[in-house]
Amino acid sequence: MKGMKIPFFVLLTLLAFSCISPVYDSVVTVNGEVRADKLGATLAHEHVLVDFIGAEHADPVRHNRDSAFAIILPHIEKIRDHGIKTFVDCTPRFLGRDPLLLKMLADATDMNFITNTGFYGAGNNKYIPEHVLNMPAEAIAAFWIAEFKQGIDGTGIRPGFIKIAVEGESLSDFHKTLVKAAALAHIATGLPIMSHTGKANLALEQIQILEAEGVKAEAFIWTHAHMEKDLSKHVEIAKMGAWVSLDSFRGKPEEIKEMTEMVVNMKKNNCAVKLLLSQDAGWYDPEIPDGSNYQEHTLIFDYLVPELNAAGITDADLNRFLNKNPGKAFTVKTRLKE
Ligand SMILES: [Zn+2]
Repeated sequence: MKGMKIPFFVLLTLLAFSCISPVYDSVVTVNGEVRADKLGATLAHEHVLVDFIGAEHADPVRHNRDSAFAIILPHIEKIRDHGIKTFVDCTPRFLGRDPLLLKMLADATDMNFITNTGFYGAGNNKYIPEHVLNMPAEAIAAFWIAEFKQGIDGTGIRPGFIKIAVEGESLSDFHKTLVKAAALAHIATGLPIMSHTGKANLALEQIQILEAEGVKAEAFIWTHAHMEKDLSKHVEIAKMGAWVSLDSFRGKPEEIKEMTEMVVNMKKNNCAVKLLLSQDAGWYDPEIPDGSNYQEHTLIFDYLVPELNAAGITDADLNRFLNKNPGKAFTVKTRLKE
């Protein structure tokens, strides 16, 4: 009988632990938090609406939300029919971000939509209000942190990531400020940082700034990494811990070939765990109210996936790129250097 005491003790310990409520990684969607491992198949870089008018004239009244919704909904239903559960909307403020529209789409389709905070510096800072250009990183970060804590524009809808955009041969002083602001906002909120970035040198410059502020490369999503044609750079940056997002695709033959090579290269070099796959498609443009410009979010399924399969990318790999990896990349938690 003496021997029975140990299993009984173990049982008690297990019971005690099972009473502590488990803590899960979570992602912030327009309808609140979702467990990262329940995010489902995710398109990590898409847009439902983009307005290119520029910050000076940007105004939510430039689009009618109900009309935009009616045009966008059938396109979203198409990806839901492909098994997509989560849509990451990468349209920043001053480029047509509309969290209420995303919520309408989420409610109508029973999908998750993720919106963002941040400022878009590419396009010669056309999408940045002039007064922001002289603000210190701390003040910019404070604005983004407030959106995370209080919700966006009184809607109560919170951003699920920080979206910034940089460009050029190397970072301008203002773009360095944007990256520093992203680091500060990440430290305060745990929001991952997605940066519209050209070539690898710009990604490396940004990672350096983040690291100088104490933020690990794991917090950084190098979006539009396909613009870097030296495939060894994808591997180098993935091995630093950053996410490499191959996310521009319109189904052209040369794109199919290039994307396939890039994906295969990542897998071959054991970097599949850091790859995100999407297509940067969409979107309703207030200047084209009939929606005739809308590019389907299904192009990667229609044109790329068969080619990837033929090149040895398995369904398990695709599940990683579209499901497991986005859940981890968009998890809201601080990634800080020790
Ligand atoms: Zn985009």
